[in-house]
Amino acid sequence: STNAPREIHVALVGMSGSGKSAVAVKYITKRFIGEYDSTLEDTYCRQETVGGQCMMVWLMDTVENAARDEMRWIAWADVYVVVYDVTSQLSFQYAEGLLERIARHEHVLCPREHRTILLGNKMDLDRYRQVSEQEGERVAAQHKAYFAECSAATDFRQFTQTLHSTFQNIISGARS
Ligand code: GDP
Ligand code: MG
Repeated sequence: STNAPREIHVALVGMSGSGKSAVAVKYITKRFIGEYDSTLEDTYCRQETVGGQCMMVWLMDTVENAARDEMRWIAWADVYVVVYDVTSQLSFQYAEGLLERIARHEHVLCPREHRTILLGNKMDLDRYRQVSEQEGERVAAQHKAYFAECSAATDFRQFTQTLHSTFQNIISGARS
């Protein structure tokens, strides 16, 4: 039916410790707890209305684990959120690797440009910053991804706005 919510799959990926679980919990509950089970892989659900369209958003909080099928999320997701920690250059390099893998996957299947977000988390820890906003923007542009910075602890607006842009792209059928 026309009122049926549109299902949308969002995968949160990135190096362990970058804040994926904090971002997931903040998005679902609007709260920052501070401690998260780093072994728990879970999928959450939240209903949202974007551009008048009701959407059932499924959010997968992934855990890097070589023992599991690592690429499971890549075919599952409509939207990829590649998270890094702005205070960790290593997590940024890890994010770049993931953007490359997503691009290779897109190449094989349908193009999913404008459905990937490179997300620099922990912007509240600015004094420990190792990755500049400009560097993040540059790498995102290289991979035709959106760029946003956020803090799961203090400032989440840029992330939700950017996420909604990807939803709008899917609704309007852009490049699908
Ligand atoms: P994950 O392994 O990617 O799921 O990372 P977690 O969500 O478990 O976060 C790792 C650690 O970083 C935890 O101690 C969180 O409390 C902390 N953390 C996550 N996001 C933020 C943030 O935006 N700001 C600050 N200051 N700490 C954060
Ligand atoms: Mg986690």
